[in-house]
Amino acid sequence: MPTLATVLGHPRIGIARELKKSLEAYWGGATPAESLLATAQEIRTRHWSMMKEAGLDQIPCNDFSLYDHMLDMAVTVGAIPPRFRKIADPLNRYFAMARGVQDRGAGIDLSPLEMTKWFDTNYHYIVPELSADQAFVLDPARIAAELAEAQALGITPRPVLPGPVTFLKLSKFADDVPSGKDTLSLLPRLLPVYEELLALLSGHGVTCVQIDEPCLCFDLDPALEEAYRVALSQLGRAARRPSLLVAAYFGTIGDNLRLVTGSGCEALHLDLVRAPADLDAVLTALPAGMKLSLGVVDGRNVWRADLAEAHRMVRRAVTALGSERVMVATSCSLLHVPVDLDAEKRLDPELKSWMAFAAQKVAEVRLLADAAEQDEPQGAEFEQAGAALARRRTAATVTNPAVRRRAEQVTDAMTRRGASFGERSARQKLRFGLPLLPTTTIGSFPQSREVREARSKWRSGSLDGEGYQDFLRAEIRRCIEMQEKLGLDVLVHGEFERTDMVEYFGEQLEGFAFTQNGWVQSYGSRCVKPPVLYGDVSRPRQMTVQWSGYAQSLSKRPVKGMLTGPVTILQWSFVRNDQPRSETCRQIALALRDEVADLEQAGVAMIQVDEPAIREGLPLRRRDWGGYLDWAVGAFRLATAGVSDETQIHTHMCYSEFGDILPSIVAMDADVLSIESSRSRMEPLEHFRQHGYPNDVGPGIYDIHSPRIPTVEEMAALLELAARVLPVERLWVNPDCGLKTRGWPEIESSLANMVQAAAKLRSTY
Ligand code: GLN
Ligand code: ZN
Repeated sequence: MPTLATVLGHPRIGIARELKKSLEAYWGGATPAESLLATAQEIRTRHWSMMKEAGLDQIPCNDFSLYDHMLDMAVTVGAIPPRFRKIADPLNRYFAMARGVQDRGAGIDLSPLEMTKWFDTNYHYIVPELSADQAFVLDPARIAAELAEAQALGITPRPVLPGPVTFLKLSKFADDVPSGKDTLSLLPRLLPVYEELLALLSGHGVTCVQIDEPCLCFDLDPALEEAYRVALSQLGRAARRPSLLVAAYFGTIGDNLRLVTGSGCEALHLDLVRAPADLDAVLTALPAGMKLSLGVVDGRNVWRADLAEAHRMVRRAVTALGSERVMVATSCSLLHVPVDLDAEKRLDPELKSWMAFAAQKVAEVRLLADAAEQDEPQGAEFEQAGAALARRRTAATVTNPAVRRRAEQVTDAMTRRGASFGERSARQKLRFGLPLLPTTTIGSFPQSREVREARSKWRSGSLDGEGYQDFLRAEIRRCIEMQEKLGLDVLVHGEFERTDMVEYFGEQLEGFAFTQNGWVQSYGSRCVKPPVLYGDVSRPRQMTVQWSGYAQSLSKRPVKGMLTGPVTILQWSFVRNDQPRSETCRQIALALRDEVADLEQAGVAMIQVDEPAIREGLPLRRRDWGGYLDWAVGAFRLATAGVSDETQIHTHMCYSEFGDILPSIVAMDADVLSIESSRSRMEPLEHFRQHGYPNDVGPGIYDIHSPRIPTVEEMAALLELAARVLPVERLWVNPDCGLKTRGWPEIESSLANMVQAAAKLRSTY
């Protein structure tokens, strides 16, 4: 049997974001459920047909989702939290779990399930919510229907299931369950439902099922290890089941390999893009009957594969195992890349020849499988790929000698502020003369329809550059006046000139390119279009100084300059794979360092450098954390430490669980750090206290993710809680995050209440 070609999953949103549009039309009441379901089926059919035509041997099914695959699995195993059970219609119930429902008139207010980042990606999954005595019941309706659809197209579908251990590990207990209970303790109840599902799929003619277990790439504590031992061997022993492909990805499987090789499952998938060294280990450890799926085509990035290198790996595997035991695959699901590079009409043709989206990656996988028997791969495709790679390696557009020289000359001193925080803080207090508990916001103000319209008119040419600039200046003026009227102590310009906090900087820096249709799902109907960082990064001109400088000229109060940090720009872009991420990050940091210097020069005395993505970049393995945090923190410091002691550096992170990385947050040495904390009722601050976090902190007291207007009393109460944990002199008062998704009337009321809450507390000291 020849080597098979396959992928672990396909993007769902559609080339023209059809799913997004259809979902939003349905949610908005504009179209009935039937049209949503029809669109979803069309998308699935189109993708299956594409993969079939491209010649894939095993084609994923059940990887599609109307919202999220973890939510789908929760529904499949009957993990519906009680508050949703009274919703009879399955589709309404499903979306209620994803998004919540609020109908004040009818007195209905169901909060949605939590959402959080999927491993180290920018995709958010829905966190299944389990009760203490959770029972699981199989609901196979959706899987069975999709399977039938796929089979009707004449393909060999391979259903994809989040594996039982990863499912439980990523779930949480409902708030009323006493803490200390491990979700993995529910495994004995969950496994029979998986067995039942496998038997059912087998009955429907399925020959292979993909069990996604990315948690196999974590360091396993004893409980997790035991869960894997039990789960994999129990599924391996199941009486009536298709063959099982256990998929580990996003990192190295390392020692956890033995948990799969000893399980009786028929096949193992490894991510050889992230962990190429796993190949040797697996080739010696794989038991005789087991097949190996080689994840050699990167599912996380947009670069054309190094086919020669991938082919060498395939050859090594085929030589050791025989072609019939080898499959060629993408490293992970293609969920994380855009659909089709052919849809890009404006990319520079040379750059485009270096790239591959999902459709191109499917073709690469096929090509590699076809060449598995050849010692030297033949054919035009291999030659073209090799030539493109060679051109990319030496392209003048990629390398900028001045940037390289500068990056090499970075010294330690450049990453250190002049004085210690204590001294800086004293000088800054004198300079700014702020009251106790100074009030501020995180940066953005509403991106209203007018703002978006003006930008699109300017982009399409119906508004000229000057007209657009006038418009932005008027918005900034209005925003500054409003903040002064509200009585905020430290102002912001409002970020009206930005669609997105990464795109805005990418567009102005050298080394970035932009796609027209390069959409990737972020969560539900939300998509992002990450910039493509392909070359050395430099800053040809100032990026924000004119806006921040203008804003500062309008007010006597300090106005914060506002930049996106180097790690966040890196993390939310498709970045080059021809040099370490740390190197790319350092280049971005140097470009930002110049912008920081120019802002300071222009009289902007407080500069905020947002780093909301630092935590999500953490590698899966703890032993890699130190290395990552070192360069990530180093990049932030390189970007910010060039200023005088009197200039105040702020940073912002929109989450609240810092856990073990708090020492690195300390090491960033920002003068002021704002975080999200209103929902968690200031809990994270206790951590800050225990770790002796030394600098100023602004715990968010206004939850901007909800349209609710918080009262003076509740915000004052939160501040009081905070002041009990940290010295009041080191506290700031601010919302959880930027206000760009909110409306003007509601933020006016909320911020007025926030300022009053601060005043109320001040009067008690
Ligand atoms: N300054 C940004 C804003 O206010 C920060 C956004 C973020 O943290 N994601 O929108
Ligand atoms: Zn934020």
